Amino acid sequence: MNILLVYPKFPETFWSFSYALSFIGRKAAFPPLGLLTIASLLPEEWNKRLVDLNVEELKNGDLLWADLVFLSSMAVQRKSVVQIIERCQALQITVAAGGPLFTSEPEKFPEVDHLILNEAELTLPLFLADIQKGKPEKIYHVDGFCDLASTPPPQWDLIDVKHYASMNIQFSRGCPFNCEFCNVTTFFGRHPRLKTTGQIITELNRIYATGWRNGIFFVDDNFIGNKEFLKNSLLPAIIEWRRDKKGCVFFTESSINLADDPKLLDMMVKAGFDSVFIGIESPDEMSLAECHKHQNRNRDLLESVKRIHRSGLQVMGGFIVGFDSDLPSIFQKQVDFIQKSGIAIAMVGMLQAPPGTRLFERLSGENRIASFFSGDNVDGTTNIIPRMGLDTLLNGYQSIMKDIYSPANYYRRVRTLLRELKTPVATMPLNLQRCLSFFRAAMRLGLLGKERFHYWQLMFWTLFRRPGQLALAVTLSIYGHHYRRICELYIYKEQENTLHDQNRSVTIQK
Ligand code: SF4
Repeated sequence: MNILLVYPKFPETFWSFSYALSFIGRKAAFPPLGLLTIASLLPEEWNKRLVDLNVEELKNGDLLWADLVFLSSMAVQRKSVVQIIERCQALQITVAAGGPLFTSEPEKFPEVDHLILNEAELTLPLFLADIQKGKPEKIYHVDGFCDLASTPPPQWDLIDVKHYASMNIQFSRGCPFNCEFCNVTTFFGRHPRLKTTGQIITELNRIYATGWRNGIFFVDDNFIGNKEFLKNSLLPAIIEWRRDKKGCVFFTESSINLADDPKLLDMMVKAGFDSVFIGIESPDEMSLAECHKHQNRNRDLLESVKRIHRSGLQVMGGFIVGFDSDLPSIFQKQVDFIQKSGIAIAMVGMLQAPPGTRLFERLSGENRIASFFSGDNVDGTTNIIPRMGLDTLLNGYQSIMKDIYSPANYYRRVRTLLRELKTPVATMPLNLQRCLSFFRAAMRLGLLGKERFHYWQLMFWTLFRRPGQLALAVTLSIYGHHYRRICELYIYKEQENTLHDQNRSVTIQK
């Protein structure tokens, strides 16, 4: 049996790093971890190939080779998914599909031959058993969650790691919190399920064996869902692993209560973590209460961020505007918070309601779902009818992005961060690729870029004040260039084309 695993193309988004990749000579940010894991779950004797549309073209010859095409996709890849399915239909190739997009909206894909929903560890074996019997069904769906201890390591040999900016690895699924807008608990539940320490070390060894000496993203939605296991088992093992394996640096996502645990912070830094994405969402207590972000309430959020910075972990922050409780003053409050926090990588989005979330249910009941969910937090759209009115929200949102990604404010924020960030323990080697990226940054940002004054000001400031952070200063300058381009693409331009007219006319009075 010939199996072609196809990963749909990402549009240019905040997280695609598309405008940063050319600086480092890579084609995509991350490999398709889900499909690489699916490959390991398929029978060993089947022939498998993988085409990631983010690094190469999908040719008709690839499709005609396959007896079955496997697709996995997130909502943001929807457009590419539709194109791939159309091509498969035209060539009469059977398609099996799974992943978040298909699991949350299976009814939108009647043309897919086999929908393998929920966690593949549970549904894929059912599909494979039916294939053996010669009678595969249209939809495979289960309640409940799998035991990650039986998940095999991804089949890394199906990709060329040199195409990617970072590798990825999954330790846990599920989150103990229950934020109203978040679909993580819908997909994976509220009880964090973990791989064993042995599984993670095996996966790290396999990535290391490919020659990888660069960033590795722990994709967990909340890495610290089980802090005791981290402190007593996984982190000590990774600290030990690093003793004779240099050159890899980790980053992940966590909840803000990471700031409350100095021992955990210290161990993460020693294990080689250098940054963490945290959903801050809002500096406004009412908005945090509304979205059930209880872990962010009744605390000094600014001080929590700074405590994490002082430990040696850079905080990347997620922010949302458009909550029912938000007043027009929220826009300036968000700007002030972001600037003071020194969070250089600030992903600000308008509130969206992913299908399957409690927010989607609530707003459906209030007739406030206006369009489909794009899956991109920073594309200047929302699928909800905001209480403050869409025009107010859009104008305020646009003003935040213009403010925080103006070169002056962005580079000022980077300086705030570098002033407070403890120099991380783990560093990546200064290889040819990194030297070239520094050279390209000097040319494109320092000579040709509109921000050249700010760029050189930051370089000289860092050289004299925080020389150990020079590499990070260059990296953040490149990221800043990417974020500005994304803002120009989606947010600074006229919004009419990106919005649904029916949204504009509706304003719900408070
Ligand atoms: S803490 Fe993060 S992952 Fe957990 S429910 Fe909230 S938004 Fe989702």
